[in-house]
Amino acid sequence: MLRYNLSYWERETFFKDFDVAVIGSGIVGLAAAMHLKTLDPRLNVAVLERGVLPAGASTRNAGFACFGSMTELLDDIAQFGEDQVLTVVEKRWRGLQRLRALVGDANMDFQQLGGYEMFTDDEEDVFQQCLERIPEFNHKIGAITQHPEGYKLVDDRLPDFGFRGVRHLILNQPEGQVHTGKMMSTLLRIAESQGIKIFNGIAIRRMEDTSQGVELETDAGWTLRVPRILIAVNAFVKTLLPGTDVIPARNQVLITHPIPGLSIEGCFHYDRGYYYFRNIDGRILLGGGRHLDNASEQTAEFGPNELIRSALVQLLRTVVCPARPVEVDAWWTGILGLGSVKKPIVERYSDNVVIAVRLSGMGVAIGTLIGQEGAELLLK
Ligand SMILES: Cc1cc2nc3c(=O)[nH]c(=O)nc-3n(C[C@H](O)[C@H](O)[C@H](O)COP(=O)(O)OP(=O)(O)OC[C@H]3O[C@@H](n4cnc5c(N)ncnc54)[C@H](O)[C@@H]3O)c2cc1C
Repeated sequence: MLRYNLSYWERETFFKDFDVAVIGSGIVGLAAAMHLKTLDPRLNVAVLERGVLPAGASTRNAGFACFGSMTELLDDIAQFGEDQVLTVVEKRWRGLQRLRALVGDANMDFQQLGGYEMFTDDEEDVFQQCLERIPEFNHKIGAITQHPEGYKLVDDRLPDFGFRGVRHLILNQPEGQVHTGKMMSTLLRIAESQGIKIFNGIAIRRMEDTSQGVELETDAGWTLRVPRILIAVNAFVKTLLPGTDVIPARNQVLITHPIPGLSIEGCFHYDRGYYYFRNIDGRILLGGGRHLDNASEQTAEFGPNELIRSALVQLLRTVVCPARPVEVDAWWTGILGLGSVKKPIVERYSDNVVIAVRLSGMGVAIGTLIGQEGAELLLK
């Protein structure tokens, strides 16, 4: 770790007179910073990010612009109740529209190719439960999305995709996908064009809200005092606020080499969403399998898990692309922020500190809205 003090020049030019500092430059931090400028264009806003790029989930996810496959929502309803689930779906849908307006569909290759839920022979029971509830879902979720026939059985598409061992497909038609890299680079560009100062390579290791503002201690050893801060560090919040109900959850992801003649298009959920994959640039991006080794994956450290990686390769070769040779080009990991409730936390921690964290697996859709809510709360 590089340790140094700020020079007089650095202190008096680069780090002078910030009104607000946002910690974390993921989708939530950037959306919050931008919304602060919308609320008050005179504010001098800084974003402090530990990574060379955002180093959590926002540049490392699968880019599903999704708001709920049927098994996910049914599991959530059983755990948290229908009202809470419908409220979150409504936010995911609204957040998605906000993201599209903010970034622009063309700037992030947004495509509404639909989200498919796959069911194998062994999943006949759960499939029947979903099938029976399609009309109810179309009524309740359709009221939010204005797609009265969003969910439908599309078994006739199975031959086009060429999966093995998959018996049924339920499509959620209004779901989409984005190019995550383009989405994030556009958000960074917009933030900078609004005069927001983004500093990379600054990890905050301690903060204290005092009567003279919030004191931030960096990993490099120097400190910074700012009137107000917004903490948007998602899975990593426990480093700063150990009592927060957020658990880090690592996810393994692979991308294949281009597959000639690939006919798979859309976002796919397999085994009740424990695995997910999509097409991108003629390749398959596939991830998940965290349930195979939950204990090891409950970590904020990036890194491989060979057990899960071999299960993902097996799934790729035997179910997703069984009929042709397919090679893995690269692997990476990203860290999600989960908790005892599947709902983001946006709350005031102290007089001058607001936190906006715990985006679980839905930050693409909901992230900009949570940033906006955090910014509004901070200025209240
Ligand atoms: C593999 C994977 C696949 C996913 N797929 C999808 C998907 O398809 N669709 C979907 O909607 N969601 C998906 N998600 C979830 C989604 O990516 C997240 O919900 C969202 O990106 C969270 O955004 P965030 O800004 O809250 O957090 P992050 O993007 O994690 O941003 C937090 C930032 O804070 C920085 N930081 C942390 N600690 C400090 C510190 N002490 N000082 C300074 N900076 C710090 C980190 O480096 C990071 O850049 C996926 C996540 C993963 C990991």
